[in-house]
Amino acid sequence: MDEANEVSARRTRAAASGQGGQQGPHEVEVRSPDTGLRHHRWTWCQIGERVYPTRRFLARNWRCPTRGCDGGMINVFPWENPHFAPRQRHPEYPDDPLEGGWYPIL
Ligand SMILES: [Zn+2]
Repeated sequence: MDEANEVSARRTRAAASGQGGQQGPHEVEVRSPDTGLRHHRWTWCQIGERVYPTRRFLARNWRCPTRGCDGGMINVFPWENPHFAPRQRHPEYPDDPLEGGWYPIL
């Protein structure tokens, strides 16, 4: 069994046992303390093309954590959703990206 399958199997077992454990990469898990809305785990900013945990955007009222970036709510996209940039063009980008990693759209 390769590593990816092993991880997948562990997630499946955790879910089946009802113990919670690590959530799958596509599960929504972040809840805004202000609005109560749930969000994807990762959020990508189109200005600097970097991705951060959504909680970091929430903590800043959706302002981008990148130093010097003026990206805000209208500039960000849910990373896990394959219909949004940049993963619409790059399905090979990882479900769990590097925090602050640069993932260009082109
Ligand atoms: Zn930004």
